[in-house]
Amino acid sequence: MELRRRGFIKLTGAGLAASTLGALGFGPSGEALAAAVRPFKLAATTETRNTCSYCAVACGILVYSAGDRAKNAKSNIIHIEGDPDHPVNRGTLCPKGSALLDVVHAPTRLEQPKYRAPGSNEFKPVSWDFALDRIARLMKHDRDANFIARNANGATVNRWLTTGMLAASASSTETAYLTWKTVRSMGMLIFDNQARV
Ligand code: SF4
Repeated sequence: MELRRRGFIKLTGAGLAASTLGALGFGPSGEALAAAVRPFKLAATTETRNTCSYCAVACGILVYSAGDRAKNAKSNIIHIEGDPDHPVNRGTLCPKGSALLDVVHAPTRLEQPKYRAPGSNEFKPVSWDFALDRIARLMKHDRDANFIARNANGATVNRWLTTGMLAASASSTETAYLTWKTVRSMGMLIFDNQARV
């Protein structure tokens, strides 16, 4: 057998890896042991299905949090992996998706809305109720003032051009469809979504 340099390195590398694993006790029985041990890591966790928040591929993920949602128990996400039942990624994740746990626990992560009042130079944390009420009020005010029912020729156009919406990709196809329908039903034409719905 002719053995070139690259093939020699591969062969010796594979042999070394096999002998090392063997020395550590990893053979078929070692793999079975690892498979048996793995569920214990997640045994007392709560599993939640979600969508990766990074890009338009929208891969399905499984989020595991410590605690069983009992009253007074604080949940803490300890593990995230690809959802093997999700039709988009079948359990796989790219390097960004694989690092989602770091995003969840990043000290710089924004966890609540912030509001800068007119004339202020400072953003202050506010409740979701406050933020959503204010957005809804401003949208209605602007739509009432600027909605165009007919164009110059009298044709019905029903459009609202002074407010736009930018939606996120971290949503299912169904959620993206409903977002599109909601926005368009108000007559809004300026709309984009990272997932390009
Ligand atoms: S895992 Fe990667 S490819 Fe999938 S949605 Fe997240 S960033 Fe996109």
